[in-house]
Amino acid sequence: MEVIIENVAAYFIVGILTIIILIYYLKSKKKQSISTEAKIQKAVEYGFHEPVSLHPVINYDICIGSGACITACPENDILGLVNGKAKTINASHCVGHGACFHACPVQAISLVMGTEKRGVELPHVSRDYETNVPGVFIAGELGGMGLIKNAVEQGKLAMENITGKLKNFSKSKLDVIIVGAGPAGISASLTAKKNNLKFITLEQDTLGGTVFAFPRAKIVMTSPMELPLHGRVKLTETSKTELLNLWNEVLNKNNIKINESEKVLEINKNDKIFQVVTSKQTYETSTVLLTIGRRGSPRKLDVPGEEKEKVAYRLLEPELIHDSNILVVGGGDSAIESALLLAEEKNNLTLSYRGESFSRLKPKNLEKINSAVSSKSITVMLNSNVKEILDNAVIIESKKEGTTSIENDLVYIFAGGELPNKFLEKIGIRITKKFGETILKH
Ligand SMILES: Cc1cc2nc3c(=O)[nH]c(=O)nc-3n(C[C@H](O)[C@H](O)[C@H](O)COP(=O)(O)OP(=O)(O)OC[C@H]3O[C@@H](n4cnc5c(N)ncnc54)[C@H](O)[C@@H]3O)c2cc1C
Repeated sequence: MEVIIENVAAYFIVGILTIIILIYYLKSKKKQSISTEAKIQKAVEYGFHEPVSLHPVINYDICIGSGACITACPENDILGLVNGKAKTINASHCVGHGACFHACPVQAISLVMGTEKRGVELPHVSRDYETNVPGVFIAGELGGMGLIKNAVEQGKLAMENITGKLKNFSKSKLDVIIVGAGPAGISASLTAKKNNLKFITLEQDTLGGTVFAFPRAKIVMTSPMELPLHGRVKLTETSKTELLNLWNEVLNKNNIKINESEKVLEINKNDKIFQVVTSKQTYETSTVLLTIGRRGSPRKLDVPGEEKEKVAYRLLEPELIHDSNILVVGGGDSAIESALLLAEEKNNLTLSYRGESFSRLKPKNLEKINSAVSSKSITVMLNSNVKEILDNAVIIESKKEGTTSIENDLVYIFAGGELPNKFLEKIGIRITKKFGETILKH
């Protein structure tokens, strides 16, 4: 009898404990759902909920709410859980790492380009990476597929296809010109070398592509990549410097020189040969591979003095810049993040923005810039335009202060980018709008 009572008591305690744990679990799930829903509401308000490019789409019939996608995502608050299912929050901030895609244990995520409402314009590219203009090929993010690993893979495959098809095109001094030295262009250059092609690689800026243009240190690689003439690269989390050193090392070892600071302005076809017009000269080639990404070229202010060496369109190593008078131009997240990073390094920071107020900023950036203004670590000039850049000063015209000259050592301009669509259309490449096309699925 005593044993029975003891067993009943034990079952009772276990039951009570299970109920307590269950209640606690359900409560925390509810709290999580409420918090995610509030974030979604805020994202809708700020215009960040609607994706602009590649983004995850969750199959709710399969999703088990493991949260693996949220943990894997290197960006903040792209995904959250509502009632045990993953939902997108700030989908427009997704940069297409695809970490969520790989992390999902039940393969409930696919990567989709554009939405039904907001289309994304992409060039027409065949399965072998050729455009509708015979002899002009496209690889990497320009074709719609983001991520370093994918760009590397596509650069290699596109160049293998070019090598195989070369006999179909008219002979010229060069077999192929590669335009753009991001991950896709680097991989294509290595493959061209491996296949003994006559080629050059032209880069408007410096080697490395998009990743190196952003003021952030961490780079995430979701799976190993196969780098031509080098082999398997297994880096799950790395730094810009480490990756850049690797590209440089492999290119140097194979005697490949990238023509940096040489922007391709036009590509024309004459007598079945392509004339590639750059900021420096004109080249002739049988084929062209465009690996120019989707970010375009930085938009210029077109003001006197903009050609000076102290003017830059990206911030690479803020930690090395101290005690300088700096002007940052722009009102987007890149401008704000750069200004904040430079202000942290004890520089004298002025931010000039032509708008009346900051709109469409990440909420955290808006908060931070407001507090930097309050603490006087950054001087913000709204409704202002840069008129001239001098050696030791900048002339700014603003609604409030009129024309002023401020002391200046460095200028960083973040005025957005000129998308490559016009450039592509001029070559004759067809561009179509994708409304929610699945790019990657299991
Ligand atoms: C903020 C941010 C963070 C990211 N983080 C990661 C990450 O952690 N991991 C990851 O895998 N992916 C990441 N990505 C995505 C990754 O950067 C891109 O998918 C990848 O760089 C695409 O490679 P690409 O070679 O196709 O193009 P890009 O890297 O964009 O390179 C294109 C190159 O072409 C040059 N170019 C353009 N026009 C011309 C012209 N007319 N003449 C000459 N040159 C030209 C450009 O200057 C550029 O160097 C991130 C993207 C962003 C925006």
